[in-house]
Amino acid sequence: MTDVYKRLAQRLDELPNGYPATESGVELKILKKIFTPEEAEMALKLRPMPETVEQIAERLGKPVPEMQKILDIMADKGEIGAFKMFGQQMYMLFPFVIGIYEFNLHRLDKELTELFEEYAPKLVGTVGAYAPAVTRVVPISTQINQDLHVHRHEDIRRMIDEAKSFNVMDCICKKERALEGHPCKHTLQICLAFSNEENAFEKFSRGRTISKAEAIKVMEQAEEEGLVHATYNVEEGQVFVCNCCSCCCGILRGVKEYKAPYILAKSYFVAEIDQDSCAACGVCKDERCPMDAIAEEDGVYTVIAERCIGCGVCTPTCPTESIKLVRKPESEHDAPPSNLIEWNVKRAASRGIEIKID
Ligand code: SF4
Ligand code: SF4
Ligand code: SF4
Repeated sequence: MTDVYKRLAQRLDELPNGYPATESGVELKILKKIFTPEEAEMALKLRPMPETVEQIAERLGKPVPEMQKILDIMADKGEIGAFKMFGQQMYMLFPFVIGIYEFNLHRLDKELTELFEEYAPKLVGTVGAYAPAVTRVVPISTQINQDLHVHRHEDIRRMIDEAKSFNVMDCICKKERALEGHPCKHTLQICLAFSNEENAFEKFSRGRTISKAEAIKVMEQAEEEGLVHATYNVEEGQVFVCNCCSCCCGILRGVKEYKAPYILAKSYFVAEIDQDSCAACGVCKDERCPMDAIAEEDGVYTVIAERCIGCGVCTPTCPTESIKLVRKPESEHDAPPSNLIEWNVKRAASRGIEIKID
């Protein structure tokens, strides 16, 4: 029988997100570090769709208590997806990104960091090569409040307002960079997970459970620090907001270093500078923009539209309010799939693969 880690790697690569093979086999070393052989076998038996423990136990012909114990250990370790849905605890096979990688935050050590870093160019390059994009920029909330036609995917306030449970976690990219000897100056505990279920993070938490008011404060802190909000690239059904810095973030590095076009979808906005009022202070270019999207020539500052991701990070610190986000024409909008099901279907089609349930 083929090595269980090879079979698991193949299975993860069959998911729409992808888990590409390398010549060095680093992707297998990562799986060996995360899963025991027995856990890898169990992960192979899970479906990439939510099931209750009773459904899984019945399908595999196992007693429920035995299955419960195995799934809870694996979920606790971050090897499989575990979340509440319609009031019930669900389990499923998770993709590697976004999924197993992020859920191994609490197990990240130097060895895992080095393996992830070795794999990153191949992983990000491949995952970011197919539409639809994995993540999407959410413009900072202070900039779009006055806009009358705010889409669901660009309204962070509404996402938080509609959610019932919140968990703030360490940012895995910042933690990884710190383990490599490059500690980040930004707040570490700044990634937000949320759910429409009550007490969603009671059983499996990767961070600290917080209130809605505290969740809003986390977002405000991120905006003050000039971090870029990013979430799932879907119109509805977001469950997290990453707050990314250009120094550590795998997503922003994916755009800048690995030129992966579908790792991050731009927002529907682009920054624009009013030349009449601009004081040429350079703050937007030198202190705020994470994408090198602002140019200066002879004291004149301009936005390089192709590089601008429409995050709005440059706007609140402009002393003359000269730089603003403006909505792009509809023909330039890269609309997100309506939900995660549509995202998976479209993504599988663009990769030329079929979604296999078993
Ligand atoms: S993607 Fe961005 S916010 Fe999310 S974990 Fe990485 S740096 Fe942190
Ligand atoms: S210019 Fe830079 S900071 Fe401003 S919106 Fe564009 S990418 Fe974001
Ligand atoms: S921060 Fe404002 S005033 Fe300063 S260079 Fe940028 S647009 Fe001009």
